Amino acid sequence: MSENHKATEERRRFLKIVGGGAVLMPIVGLSACSGGEDKAPGSTAPKAGSAPAAEAPAKSSGMPQISEDDPQAKSLAYVHDASSIDSMKQSRFKAGQACSNCALYQGKAADEWAGCSIFPGKAVKGTGWCTVYAPKPG
Ligand code: SF4
Repeated sequence: MSENHKATEERRRFLKIVGGGAVLMPIVGLSACSGGEDKAPGSTAPKAGSAPAAEAPAKSSGMPQISEDDPQAKSLAYVHDASSIDSMKQSRFKAGQACSNCALYQGKAADEWAGCSIFPGKAVKGTGWCTVYAPKPG
């Protein structure tokens, strides 16, 4: 067996190993992507040694909290604290209105933060308000 043939055999073995890895990597990558943040909280058991939920970035109802500086929030005059609204400047606002009693609030009245169908993927504060406010029926 020549040195050339031996080198060819080793290249084949190497390519066999690397080639197999190239096939496995996307599969491993996909399974890693499907394993967590998109799922509802509590749907998977926490991994051993993983950080407790309290150390996760601030989220509400599994969603990030909306910022008053968010362009859409600004366009709808959203504020976290409805009691800070000057009804002389904001004629749509009536005392007592807040996200927690708005028909579009997706949480319970007692929830501090919850989703709102006007701001998909973001949580609004129960004490908040925006110009789209609609009273809960009943
Ligand atoms: Fe709050 Fe209702 Fe405006 Fe949503 S639509 S931000 S729940 S007042």
